[in-house]
Amino acid sequence: MIIFKTVNQLQAFVEKQRKAGRTTGFVPTMGALHMGHISLIDASKKGNDITVCSIFVNPTQFNNATDFEKYPVTTESDIDKLEAAGCDILFLPAPGEIYPAGYKADFYELGYLETVLEGAYRPGHYQGVCQVVDRLLDIVKPGTLYLGQKDYQQCMVIKKLVELKRYRVNIHIEKTVREQDGLAMSSRNTRLNEAERKQAVKIFETLSFMKKELKTGDIKNIKQKAYDFLSSNGFKVDYAEIANASNLKLLDNWDGKIPLVLLIAAYLNEVRLIDNFVLE
Ligand code: AMP
Repeated sequence: MIIFKTVNQLQAFVEKQRKAGRTTGFVPTMGALHMGHISLIDASKKGNDITVCSIFVNPTQFNNATDFEKYPVTTESDIDKLEAAGCDILFLPAPGEIYPAGYKADFYELGYLETVLEGAYRPGHYQGVCQVVDRLLDIVKPGTLYLGQKDYQQCMVIKKLVELKRYRVNIHIEKTVREQDGLAMSSRNTRLNEAERKQAVKIFETLSFMKKELKTGDIKNIKQKAYDFLSSNGFKVDYAEIANASNLKLLDNWDGKIPLVLLIAAYLNEVRLIDNFVLE
């Protein structure tokens, strides 16, 4: 694996690949890699000649200073995992490479997506996500971008960004990779102590409960039960919601036909966890 730390070096490399007719798959991450990230690398390797992974803890997408300061950084073991997975290129930029002096952020018209769920609970977060993904797509110019369904709303936001900026890139979304007990893998899980880690699986259990309870008609009570269950088990719940999977409109009633996504965001002490089930 080749590690590039500067935009110029990486751009020279990808330009050469493009001229040689090789396809590039791109997996943007914030590091502290786990099997969820590696599933994206695997998918990219299957579909492309060259796989580029980036690790950059993007300061502009953190709406909470402590969350940024405490975000896990495990670069050495990340490099080992990427080598083992057969990743070709790691882009490991310093903040000044992504946001050089004079960088001026666009405002991204995300509309409704920025007012609901993560958009509402993390003001400015998706503007930051768009800033970094816009920069990275412009630098890497991949044929296909690999994203995780774990961040369901983020996938929708990035699709919107690609539309707004007219990037010619395919988007490939991989299913959420889970621990054996069902907890969605996340870099933030490393911040949980032993007791919190045991509790964390209740998010998965609540999503399973919501799925089981679903029936046509009134679904408000299911959301309320989910909220109450998590609250009484020590979580500070931001939301336990059921939405239309194609546009994220929140639903209190279900006609039995609209494709659904169940979404939860909740804190265990300091650590904020999110998860979702997309119902096929
Ligand atoms: P992050 O490093 O958290 O910014 O995530 C980088 C990419 O990995 C994003 O597209 C995430 O949605 C994806 N990802 C994170 N956790 C998982 C998981 N458990 N399963 C699949 N993809 C994931």
